[in-house]
Amino acid sequence: MKTTVKTIEGSRQGLFIGGQFVAPMNGRYIDSFDPTTGERWYELAEAEADDVGAAVSSAQAAFRNPAWRRMTQTDRGRLVRRLADLVLEHADELADIETRDNGKLLKETRAQMRAMPDAYHYFAGMADKLQGETIPVNKLDMLNFNLREPIGVVGMITPWNSPLMLLTGTLAPCLAIGNTVVIKPSEHATASTLALAELIAEAGFPAGVVNVVTGTGTSAGEALTRHPGIAKYVFTGSTATGRRIAANAAENLIPCSMELGGKSPHVVFADVDIEHAVNGVVSGVFAAAGQTCVAGSRCFVEASVYDRFVEALVDRTQRIRVGHPTVDETDIGPLALADQLSKVEGYVASGVKEGARVAVGGKRPQSGELGRGWYFEPTVMTDAQNDMTFMRDELFGPVVGVMPFSSEEQMIELANDTRYGLASGIWTKDIDRALRFANQIEAGTVWINTYRSSSFMSANGGFKESGYGRRGGFEVMREFSRLKNVIIDYSGAMQDPFVIRLK
Ligand code: NAD
Repeated sequence: MKTTVKTIEGSRQGLFIGGQFVAPMNGRYIDSFDPTTGERWYELAEAEADDVGAAVSSAQAAFRNPAWRRMTQTDRGRLVRRLADLVLEHADELADIETRDNGKLLKETRAQMRAMPDAYHYFAGMADKLQGETIPVNKLDMLNFNLREPIGVVGMITPWNSPLMLLTGTLAPCLAIGNTVVIKPSEHATASTLALAELIAEAGFPAGVVNVVTGTGTSAGEALTRHPGIAKYVFTGSTATGRRIAANAAENLIPCSMELGGKSPHVVFADVDIEHAVNGVVSGVFAAAGQTCVAGSRCFVEASVYDRFVEALVDRTQRIRVGHPTVDETDIGPLALADQLSKVEGYVASGVKEGARVAVGGKRPQSGELGRGWYFEPTVMTDAQNDMTFMRDELFGPVVGVMPFSSEEQMIELANDTRYGLASGIWTKDIDRALRFANQIEAGTVWINTYRSSSFMSANGGFKESGYGRRGGFEVMREFSRLKNVIIDYSGAMQDPFVIRLK
C-alpha cells in the first residue's frame, strides 16, 4: 500500500473516527497551503463539538472494548511494533507529505521518519513492563498492593513544526500502556497525522483506539479541551495556548502534560574552538528556519572573544543556503505560515528600534521563487540586550541575538533571566564550569558542547513557562498510567462493622 494524503473527495481530507475516514458533520473545510509557494494544497475538515464528541465516544468505547482492554501485554507490544515497521516502510512517503505541509527540509523529515520506528520499538517494550508494587500494611493476614493501569482516553494536541516526531513520544507509550487516544493536529499541518492514521488501521489496532479530529484551535481544540470524557491532555505548542488549555481542563479537573515554548540561552566561553562553537550556535538557532521549541535564540559570548565570535558567526550565516526544502543543498527552507513571517519581521524591526543592529540577514530574500514563498534570511542581531522584546519573546524564526558577558555569575544571571526554561547550551572545555552551569541553569535540558541532540530514552520537558510533565524514558510510563490501591484481608475473621482495624 502506498501511503498518500487520505482524501475523502477531491482534495478534501476527512476525520479519522472509529477506524474510518469520515466527513465533518457540518460539511465545512479549511484551506491548507504549500509554504514554498503560498498556494492552496488541500482542504482539511473543520471539526466542531459534535465531531469531537463522536471521536471521544469512540475512544471511550475502544478503551472498554475487550478486544483492546483484555489484549495481553505481549500482543499489545506486538501491535506497536507492527506500527513501527509500517512507519519504517513508509518513512519516505510520510516525509514527503510532512515537508509539503510545513516546509521543513526533506532531508530532516526523512531523518525524523526513519528514526521514529526505533522510538516505537522502544516504547513497545513498555507494554509488558508496567508493574505495580506490594506495600507493607502493618496488619496481620492482609495483603496491600498497587495496580498500575492505563488511564483512559488521552487527548493529544500537536503543533505544526514536527507533527509526527512530536506525536511519537506520547502516542507510542500511550498505546503500549493500553490507553486510547484522540489527536488534534495543528490546522497548519494535518496531512502526515492522517497518513499515520491509515498505517494505524493497517497495523490492526481495534477501531477507535486512535482517532484524529482536525480543525482550528478555537473549534476542534476548544471542544476537545472542554470535553469531560478525557483522562489527560498532552499538549505541545505555545505557552499562550497551553495556558488556555490548562484553564479549560481545570474546569473538569483533568490533568495535563505541557510542552511549551522557549527562549533558550546558548553560552560560549573563550576556551573553545570558535569555529566549533559557531557551528553549534548556527545549528541551535537556524535549523528548521528557527522553528524549533529549543532554538538557542539568546547567545551569550565571553567578552574576550566576542568580536572574533561575531565575525565568524556572521561569515558562517552568510554562507547558509536558503532554498526549497526538497533540494538537497538547502540548509534552511521557508517559514511554515504567512503570519509567522510577518511576526518575525515585526520582531526584527522592534529589535532595531530598541537599539540592536542587524549584522546579517533581517529581511525576506527578494529574488525569484524565494520572493514568492514564506522565506526569511537567517539573521544575527548584535548590540542585543536581554530586556529587548525580541530577546524576551519566543519569535519562532531564524533570528539570534548576541551579547557579551564578563563573568560566569553575570552569564548565569542573564541566561536565567527569562520566563521560559526549556533548553540551554554551553560551549567550554572546562568541565567544572560546564557542570556548574548544568547545576544552576533553570532549564529542562542542558547541552554541553552540542545542541539539539536528543534521545527518546531520556525524560524531556520544560521548567517555568516552558511547561510541566515529561516525555521519553521510563518516566513517560508514570505520566500515562495510574495507581490503584487494593487491600485483601485473608484472615477469615469477621470485620468489626464500626471500627476499622488499625493493627
Ligand atoms: P499553537 O499553540 O498555536 O498551536 C498548537 C496546537 O494547539 C494546534 O493544534 C492548535 O490548533 C491548538 N490550539 C490553538 N488554540 C487552541 C485552543 N484554544 N484550545 C485547544 N487547542 C488550541 O502552537 P504552534 O504555532 O502550532 O507551534 C509552535 C509553538 O509550539 C511554539 O511556541 C513552540 O515552542 C511550541 N513547541 C514546543 C515544543 C516542546 O516540546 N516544548 C515542541 C514543538 C513546538
